Amino acid sequence: MTTRPELGDWGSLDELTQLQDGHLEAALTAAARSPFYRARHGASPPRDRDALHRTALTTKQDLRDAYPFGLLAVPRSELATYHESSGTSGEATASYYTEEDWLDLTERYARKHVGIGPDDTFMVRTPYALMITGHLAHAAARSRGATVVPADNRSLATPFARVVRILRDLDVTLTWSLPADTLLWAAAARAAGYLPDRDFPALRALFVGGEPLSRARRARIGELWAADVVEEYGATETGSLAGECPLGRLHLWADRAIFEVHDPSTGVTGTHGRGQLVVTPLFRQAMPLLRYNIEDEVEVSHEPCPCGWHLPTVRVLGRSALTGGTRLTQLDVEDLVFGLPAEFGVMFWRARAAGDRIEIEIEVAERHRRPAAAALTASVRRVLGVDAAVVPTPPGGLVPLPLLTAPADVMKPRGFFAAGEDWDKALQYH
Ligand SMILES: [Zn+2]
Repeated sequence: MTTRPELGDWGSLDELTQLQDGHLEAALTAAARSPFYRARHGASPPRDRDALHRTALTTKQDLRDAYPFGLLAVPRSELATYHESSGTSGEATASYYTEEDWLDLTERYARKHVGIGPDDTFMVRTPYALMITGHLAHAAARSRGATVVPADNRSLATPFARVVRILRDLDVTLTWSLPADTLLWAAAARAAGYLPDRDFPALRALFVGGEPLSRARRARIGELWAADVVEEYGATETGSLAGECPLGRLHLWADRAIFEVHDPSTGVTGTHGRGQLVVTPLFRQAMPLLRYNIEDEVEVSHEPCPCGWHLPTVRVLGRSALTGGTRLTQLDVEDLVFGLPAEFGVMFWRARAAGDRIEIEIEVAERHRRPAAAALTASVRRVLGVDAAVVPTPPGGLVPLPLLTAPADVMKPRGFFAAGEDWDKALQYH
């Protein structure tokens, strides 16, 4: 059985590098067993860090081309789960894990500074179908003895109204979801007549991931629910890559993987700075990856953090678009939207680059329309240096009320009906 490092096993970034080197050889040996890396490296696979850094990056397209089992480095019989990630290209990106891979996965996810324990009721509100995210949180919470409520977020069985009922009736203490989902629950809770910060006293922390999160939005979510917000960052092909320390900074799990930052405009890959995140997991059996380019825009820093974890920090920047010669990220805009005074109650927005300015729609109550639009227009100009056309829409304009109040809408396929029942529902899913 492999010994995997835990927080506290190293006392500096230098010791961390030594720790990585101690596990790298086994990771390289495992990779050499997969058809993809055998074909790529032939008779001279990389055997140390320098040689690894001379190899080509593994791209998302490489993974798609290797579908389904081109990266398999163990017999099929040793696989525990198979997943696909949600690409937009229409081509599948497969990933698969052994039982031991799952120990590494769950340990990384379970590194939450607020702790997960037997007294927790943990609502998992991310997809279970094909992706890893729901199963990852589920397994991590089970490994710590928590009671898991598998709620999913793409199932017709769990609309927002049901989520609110579960959060309240079950005294849910921890949740795992997109940050955006927690705002929708808050709106749904209000639609059901509750106050999110008062009527859910058991809720102590919201684990969020799957999209970039600005400081301002994170603060707003925490205030709305009167609970800690704990950020998590990962991918279906890798599991958790980073988690938050008690000081609120996102640290890369560099004891379990080697991270690099790739600048696609120069082709240069380094250990820190801004660019695409590249990862070499150190404890993978089923599907070893070498220098896998996640293609997320990030900023990695080796500046020490007082938490004492001695791990690099990362900021996930999200999508960007050119506006009048200025490259804006989703985080830039989001930070200003959620930087609006809380009493304006702005939770839902969307934006797009439009020539030399940016168009932003915000959902806001009639009485706050003018001040909210004026404040946002001014802050975009002041902070980002571009003009903004801010369009306020009334509540329901971006998130329709029926979405927040709709009942569950699933039925098992059936063939036999009693007199008076609507047999046009026979065998249909809807
Ligand atoms: Zn820290």
